[in-house]
Amino acid sequence: MDNRLRGKIASEAIRQRIKKDVELIVGHGDRPPHLSAILVGNDGASKSYVNAKEKACEEVGFLSTIIRLPENTSQNELIEHITKINENDKIDGLIVQLPLPSHIDENMINSKISPNKDVDGFHDVNMGRLAKGNAFINPATPYGILLLLEHYNLSVEGKHVVVLGRSNIVGRPLSILLSENHAFGNATVTLCHSRTKNLKEWCQKADVLVAAIGKPYFVTADMVKEGAVVIDVGTTRIEADNERGWKLAGDVNYTEVKEKASAITPVPGGVGPMTITGLLSNTLLVRKSRLEQGNSA
Ligand code: NAP
Repeated sequence: MDNRLRGKIASEAIRQRIKKDVELIVGHGDRPPHLSAILVGNDGASKSYVNAKEKACEEVGFLSTIIRLPENTSQNELIEHITKINENDKIDGLIVQLPLPSHIDENMINSKISPNKDVDGFHDVNMGRLAKGNAFINPATPYGILLLLEHYNLSVEGKHVVVLGRSNIVGRPLSILLSENHAFGNATVTLCHSRTKNLKEWCQKADVLVAAIGKPYFVTADMVKEGAVVIDVGTTRIEADNERGWKLAGDVNYTEVKEKASAITPVPGGVGPMTITGLLSNTLLVRKSRLEQGNSA
């Protein structure tokens, strides 16, 4: 039985719809959405994420600009680049690829991105709106997970969702999003973290179990209820006997858990592509909202 929630396939379908929307915008004589990314340093994983985002932009007809800065870029230099993009009417969305070098304060940098261009959805204003049930831009990974549930028509209404991990980019915003009153929300959510007692028992109670902790193969079959939906957000590079010398490991022991789950995301090809799709959807949303406000730059 193929019970995979295939983010790659869901993404293709959603990106086709985004592409059509872009064609409509261009057909009206307007500029397509434009996403700008800033990459500081030489982290291999960050470089490949930014390249994947650039490729995805190209595929749906977005414009994209990548600003690549050296590792020793100062905080002030980075802020200057952000300010220029904030003020550039021809750019709709801006992401600063994380992690940043240790001499740069990520929270501070985050606060410098205009909330109206913050398509990663990490700015305090966007997190605040989300917490009040009034989100404009949802954080890209939680939003991608919502889009995946929607694609497979998996309602979480009234279900018990257990989220492992309380980070500001995945666990916490996802727990809020799934508990809110909207289609593919209305779940009863338990948020677990490293200080949670009886973690295994909480997991066993989950109708939907989301693992976002960055601990390879942490979730084993004995932690999962028969028929549960399992969403694996984890992506840790571990050593592998292949050309690259590494492979991506999820937080779930996929081989054994897939036998018990009614549906499960693989790693890779599950949540990963959905994060980029969430980002593209957010950028399109900003572009459309600017056009509606009469901003035709
Ligand atoms: P993070 O900031 O490191 O947060 C990890 C969270 O997991 C923390 O809340 C931590 O608890 C909790 N945790 C750690 N060990 C635990 C344990 N043994 N039991 C219960 N909770 C535990 O991580 P993140 O940024 O959210 O990322 C999580 C994973 O998702 C990583 O593998 C990351 O690469 C991946 N990720 C994937 C995508 C994608 O697109 N696929 C996007 C974003 C992240 P405390 O708060 O108590 O420390």
